[in-house]
Amino acid sequence: MKAICVYCGSSAGINPAYAAGARQLAAALVNKKLGLVYGGGNVGLMGIIADEVLRLGGHVTGVIPKALMDKEVGHVELSQLHVVSNMHERKALMAERSDAFIAMPGGIGTLEELFEIFTWSQLGFHDKPLGLFNINGFYDTLLAFLQETSQQGFLRDSHLKLLYAETDPDQLLEKFTHHKPQPHQKWLTSSDL
Ligand code: AMP
Repeated sequence: MKAICVYCGSSAGINPAYAAGARQLAAALVNKKLGLVYGGGNVGLMGIIADEVLRLGGHVTGVIPKALMDKEVGHVELSQLHVVSNMHERKALMAERSDAFIAMPGGIGTLEELFEIFTWSQLGFHDKPLGLFNINGFYDTLLAFLQETSQQGFLRDSHLKLLYAETDPDQLLEKFTHHKPQPHQKWLTSSDL
């Protein structure tokens, strides 16, 4: 693995634990000589993780649509900043440049990015590992909902297992190194239930 894509909030959240977690993840990436790929903004957790990776001497690639350069304060000090035409190009380039994906706490933008890369994995469009950095139990209710989705027969257990979840970034990165692609089969059959 060379670079990790991190999806995270354009806000910092109300608990300082989220910013602390962003810095912890930044340190884990730099220690393992992994580059950061992210949305290119300088606001919220996005700005905090990018600044910390740069401060520690790591490599940061940002990918931001032209129309968001003002709103998300395009981070001009990054190692590389790609200004693209739209959200689709942004997500495609972020995915292409990364070997694995981590979602930290965030809002609907973060969730949208997470679920897109999760569905691409389920469909077998990629077999790169993905996981939640579950700071402060932020993702506990989402994980419970996904369990319910599986129990109700809408999500195969083998697909749910494609989403790792850890409270420690080093453990999450460790899981990624042992990741084995799952057999992909989209549809549930009665024998799965
Ligand atoms: P949020 O989690 O809502 O604070 O947003 C985090 C990041 O996700 C920001 O860079 C948003 O621009 C981005 N984002 C929001 N909506 C989308 C979308 N539909 N596709 C891709 N990225 C998005």
